[in-house]
Amino acid sequence: MQGPRFDSPACSRYTRARMMELTGISASPGIARGKAFLFLEDRLSVPRYDIGAGQVDAEYGRFLAALQAAAAEVKSLVAGQDGTLFEAQLLMFEDPELKDRVRALLGETRRNVEWVFLQILDEMSGKLAKAESQYLRERTVDFADAGNRILGQLMARTRVRLSDIRQPVVLVTRTLMPSDTLGLDHAYILGIAADAGGRTSHTAILARASEIPAVLGLSDISRCVHAGDEIIVDGNRGIVIVNPDDATRERYETRRSEWERKDVVLKEQRDLPAETTDGKLLSIEANIETPDEAESVRAHGADGIGLFRSEFLFIQPGRFPSEEEQLTAYSSVLTAMKGRSVTIRTLDLGGDKVMPGIHLAADDNPLLGWRAIRFCLARPEVLRTQLRALLRASVHGALRIMFPLISGTAELDAIDEIVKEVKIELNREGHPFRDDVPFGIMIEVPSAAITSDILAERADFFSIGTNDLIQYTLAVDRGNEKVAYLYEPFHPGVLRLIRTTIENARARGIPVGMCGELAGDPLATVVLLGLGLDSFSMGPIGIPLIKRIVRSVGIMEAEELVRCLMPMRSGPEIEQAVRAWMEERLDYSSW
Ligand code: PEP
Ligand code: MG
Repeated sequence: MQGPRFDSPACSRYTRARMMELTGISASPGIARGKAFLFLEDRLSVPRYDIGAGQVDAEYGRFLAALQAAAAEVKSLVAGQDGTLFEAQLLMFEDPELKDRVRALLGETRRNVEWVFLQILDEMSGKLAKAESQYLRERTVDFADAGNRILGQLMARTRVRLSDIRQPVVLVTRTLMPSDTLGLDHAYILGIAADAGGRTSHTAILARASEIPAVLGLSDISRCVHAGDEIIVDGNRGIVIVNPDDATRERYETRRSEWERKDVVLKEQRDLPAETTDGKLLSIEANIETPDEAESVRAHGADGIGLFRSEFLFIQPGRFPSEEEQLTAYSSVLTAMKGRSVTIRTLDLGGDKVMPGIHLAADDNPLLGWRAIRFCLARPEVLRTQLRALLRASVHGALRIMFPLISGTAELDAIDEIVKEVKIELNREGHPFRDDVPFGIMIEVPSAAITSDILAERADFFSIGTNDLIQYTLAVDRGNEKVAYLYEPFHPGVLRLIRTTIENARARGIPVGMCGELAGDPLATVVLLGLGLDSFSMGPIGIPLIKRIVRSVGIMEAEELVRCLMPMRSGPEIEQAVRAWMEERLDYSSW
């Protein structure tokens, strides 16, 4: 479901302290309540709301205070340095004409002062940019900078990194880049509410990995909320409440305690084996983003790591990590997992995984462009370094290596060539490595699923990446909330591709797992069991619940359910049938 647009009645009627409920996409479970922290690093997003006649003076007072604070900010920035460059800005903070215009427009429009000031700022910038004098044209940048500084003060906006936040807040943002979330500490980030993003966007994945309740795809929440507003994030239902009244606050406190109680019950089961009632032992594994998560993975009862997204090592601005740095990271994960299986995926940059300082080509269509294995094969030195580090780390545990976004055998030929050369090099240099490391393929492109019989001859295992497989099968950008309603994991087209992949893997005798978000969706567990999946890998937080479902059902009944589902005509029809089954057979809603 989509959240309201900025100009929707919910948002335009909103004034400070009025309660407002917004619906978005439930991206990470849990319930959080706290003060809003606006994290709007890329562009200022200015709210617009009506004010009463009696508020004009107060709004004008806010503007004067913002001018003063902005001037103090600039003075402290230039303290002890030559401040000539900032003189124009300082003049603007004292400009009587600007003050008069703001006061007049406040009275005329009866809108909040940030919005009023932005109108004036836009008009003046437009005039400056068209000025005949080059000197004046060049002042546009100073002007915009000073204007942003004033807006920043008005919106209590500070330039910080998320890792600098040292008081508990609910993060309100447009979207988060992978680099924003480094060092995200859930002691301080209580919840996340974002304009953009779907369930499988990287913001969602990272929120789940950090166990932070999150609602995404809210369209315009970052423009509707003020810094310091009280916010409830209900990640279970995909709802955000701004400035709750007492009754709502109390209702959510009760829900939160209930949720925490259930969480404790589930965690009690986490160390039991993932065995169906008729004795099939499954492997329930964890997806991780950074090496230090490996320690916590066991605490959630994971049998191994099914996906280590290695691109998060590549996040330092401006350069790729060296072989030694990678070796340290991979070795530490393998050592921490004490002999349990660890599947590390080679670099998957591009698409929605944009890293600061690493400039991939500006593709018109990045999700269909130069990403993942395509990038690595075009920059073989990057893949070569990573494979050297991986193979050298292999002596520390049960490593498996897998390649993302494989679409056909030509890519496998190129990879084989590089692996062969790297092994020869390592032998020559006397670096020990295990020669029996399994090499697997991610099935996340429709062509790979359809030709999985051919690919199975060339791989030691498959891992189905449903986040991409669904987006490419249904032509739905996984991060775009406007088309999120089309993102249907139970679409017959998706289920048939998953079935084909599993059947072909089994026919060839290679293991097949899933590491896309569908593997951690409790509604899908029985269906995937019935389709014959061997291992499930997900954000650690989801493991106890999936284990509990696996331990409650038998393979035979799961296969029977799948036999009923496969002839059905649509995603919603299938989803409804699965829900009904879960209710009838497991009384699931009471869990
Ligand atoms: C996937 O596509 O399902 C997957 C696991 O890879 P990522 O989400 O990192 O693209
Ligand atoms: Mg993928």
